[in-house]
Amino acid sequence: MMKIAVLPGDGIGEEVMKEALKVLKKVEAKFNLHFDFTHGLIGGAAWPQYKNHFPQETQDLVLDSDAILFGSVGGPVDAQSEPKWKDCEKNSILSIRKLLGLTVNLRPAPIYKELLDFCPLKTEITGTENFEILVIRELSGGIYFGEHSRPTVDTAKDVAEYDRKTIAHIAKFAFESAMKRSKKLTSVDKANVLETSRLWREVFEDTAKEYPEVKLENVLVDNMVQQLVKNPRQFDVIACPNLFGDIVSDLTSVLPGSLGMLGSASFGNKNIHLYEPSGGSAPDIAGKGIANPIAQILSASMMLRHSFHLVDAADAIENAVSEVMKNGLRTGDIYQKKEGLKLVGTVEMGDAICANISL
Ligand code: NAD
Repeated sequence: MMKIAVLPGDGIGEEVMKEALKVLKKVEAKFNLHFDFTHGLIGGAAWPQYKNHFPQETQDLVLDSDAILFGSVGGPVDAQSEPKWKDCEKNSILSIRKLLGLTVNLRPAPIYKELLDFCPLKTEITGTENFEILVIRELSGGIYFGEHSRPTVDTAKDVAEYDRKTIAHIAKFAFESAMKRSKKLTSVDKANVLETSRLWREVFEDTAKEYPEVKLENVLVDNMVQQLVKNPRQFDVIACPNLFGDIVSDLTSVLPGSLGMLGSASFGNKNIHLYEPSGGSAPDIAGKGIANPIAQILSASMMLRHSFHLVDAADAIENAVSEVMKNGLRTGDIYQKKEGLKLVGTVEMGDAICANISL
């Protein structure tokens, strides 16, 4: 039994989650699987009943699950400025990340050739075929978690720390990911200046000895961002410390053309992993039936691949998304007036993806 906690949250969360569940039910039937879905309230969706963004009942559900399919949080659409919503994101998604002890974040940026008009780079640079860059970010260490202080009005201090064990954990994860893909891994650091980066590079080079088939390349972060803009196709799996991963994954996130195309996964030390779209609750379009459900659907396929090792089912979803892109169906975020393209809403997009998963 695969126990999945379904936490749609607020904003567009509920709308896009419905489509992801529709797709999961389709693969359930096709591959003769059985998912056990339990719904929970979080963020703005939990507040009216619990006066809490992450109620105990939802925390219990999370800890009693095999995987979490998360939507988005931000508070109710029409009351964003009220103080009680101010900490909604912090109190819900950040708390759930803490509860699960999440240490590794996966952000794939899939570039579909049909959406190249939405990619900010010229096609001379991207080429005209599909490709995907996978950014793997360390989530639990580095400067974000060191001491932050303001000794005087004119001085401030943020301490960056890493230890061998934390780096070895993500290095192993990155090499394993590279083994399943092109066997090429790029590790990002600033080893010419930072001691933490020298340790990072040392551990990646040590780990490389266990994976002789993987070609490891160490790239300084400043060069990395230049190369990503000049020639993104040279990269496949990119592993970064926390701070650099935050920046590098934001750069790659603009390449697909819309946040609505980006799923993500975070892995923790409790073996309960969390899958969520990279974007937020999109209050500007919530409730209108126009949000792109693909980010949520691709997050669901990542869940099947990584938490349940259902590679065929995950491939079936990802192939169906590619087919729908080829067939010209587009939600508003990826639509332009062009022959062969049809503007559709959230539900029609979910239906089309289901229709491309044949029974
Ligand atoms: P956002 O990602 O919600 O929206 C940015 C832009 O992208 C908007 O124009 C939105 O319409 C568009 N967009 C995002 N997802 C889309 C989709 N699936 N389909 C079509 N268009 C899509 O970011 P924001 O506006 O900065 O934040 C809104 C709220 O979300 C804030 O309250 C913020 O705190 C919260 N937030 C939550 C999460 C999370 O739940 N993990 C992450 C980021 C932001």
